[in-house]
Amino acid sequence: MSEKKRLLTGDRPTGKMHLGHLVGSIYNRVKLQDKYETYILVADLHMLTTKNEPQHIADIDKNAHDMVLDQIAAGLEPEKVTFYMQSGIPEIHEMYTLFQSLVTVARLERLPSLKDMARDANIEMPLALLGYPVLQAADILCVRGDLVPVGKDNIAHVEITREIARRFNHMYGETLPEPDGLVGEIPTLVGTDGQSKMSKSLNNAIFLSDGPKEVEKKVMSMYTDPNRVRADIPGTVEGNPVFEYHDAFNTNKAEVEDLKTRYRAGKVGDVEVKEKLVAAINAVLAPMHERRAQFEESGLIEEILVNGTEKARAETQQTLYAMKKAMGLSGVWNRIRRKVEKREKKQG
Ligand code: ATP
Ligand code: MG
Repeated sequence: MSEKKRLLTGDRPTGKMHLGHLVGSIYNRVKLQDKYETYILVADLHMLTTKNEPQHIADIDKNAHDMVLDQIAAGLEPEKVTFYMQSGIPEIHEMYTLFQSLVTVARLERLPSLKDMARDANIEMPLALLGYPVLQAADILCVRGDLVPVGKDNIAHVEITREIARRFNHMYGETLPEPDGLVGEIPTLVGTDGQSKMSKSLNNAIFLSDGPKEVEKKVMSMYTDPNRVRADIPGTVEGNPVFEYHDAFNTNKAEVEDLKTRYRAGKVGDVEVKEKLVAAINAVLAPMHERRAQFEESGLIEEILVNGTEKARAETQQTLYAMKKAMGLSGVWNRIRRKVEKREKKQG
C-alpha cells in the first residue's frame, strides 16, 4: 500500500470558527480527510505574535477546545484527523531557528498580510510577526505536509514555506517536501460589515456555533446596496455582501437567480432577500449543531488534542533529525540526545 500524502493546516486560537473558515479552508479539510493523512494544528504560538497579554493567553485552552469542536461539527472525523497544539512541540522552535537563515528580512517585509495584521492589532511590527511565515513553514514542514488548505490571505505564506524548503534542499540535499497551497472555492469571505474579510477578531463574523436567532440578528443588520433607499429602486448585486453569501451558502440556485433578477429590477425588498439568506445559512449550520451536541457530550476534546500532539511531536522529531543529519549537525547533537534520553529513562 502506498503511503498517503499529508495535509496540514491550522488556525490561531483567537476565537471560534466562522463561515469564512468554512468556505476558505474547512470544506477542503473535510473533503480531503480520506485522501490525505490530515494534521490540524491550533497555532497558539502564532497567536502570540499579535496577542500576548495574559487575558489573551487565558483564553487559549477554551478557544482551542471550541475550534476542535467546531471542526468536528463541520465534518472532520477525530479517528482520521490528528489535531495538535503548536506549543506542545518544542522542536518546532528548533526548526524555526534553522529556517531563519534561509529567508531574508526584505522578503518578509514585502508581505502585505503582515502589515495588515499589525495594523488590525494596533501594534508596531514585532520581530515575531515578521517571522510569522517562517514559523508557519516549521508548522507545515514539521509533519512534512504536502498540501495546505488556506484562505487567500494566507497563500503568500505558503509560498514562503515553498521557498524555504527549496533552499534547504538545494543547500543540504533533498530532505523536505515543497508543499502546495490550496485556496477554497470562495478564497475570501467578506464580513457582515461588508468592509473587511470575515475575521474572529473584527466583530463581523457569523460563527459555526451560532444558533438560528443569532444568524437572523446578524443577517438582518447586514449592509446591502447603500444607494438603494427603497425596495422599488433597482439595486446592485455585484459586491453586495448579502448576495455574496447567497452565492456561497444558498444551495437553491434557482432561488438565488430569481432574487438577483428581481433585485436588479427593483422588485424585491431587502427583507425578503435577507430572510431567504437566514434560512439558507441555518440549513448549512443545522447538521453541525447536531454533530456538535453529540460530540460535546463525549468530553473527549482534550484527550484528542493531547494524543494528537504526542503523535505530531514524534513526526516532528523525525523530521528534525533528518534535517540535522542533512546539514551535518547530527554528530555531537546525537550524542547529547542519547545522553538526555538515557537520563530520562533512569529517572523513569
Ligand atoms: P484573526 O482575526 O485572529 O486573525 P481569522 O478569523 O482571520 O482570525 P485565522 O486564524 O487568521 O482566522 O485564519 C485561519 C485560516 O482561515 C487561514 O487559512 C485563513 O486564510 C482562513 N480564513 C480566515 N478568514 C477567512 C475568510 N474571511 N475567508 C476565507 N478564509 C479565511
Ligand atoms: Mg487572520
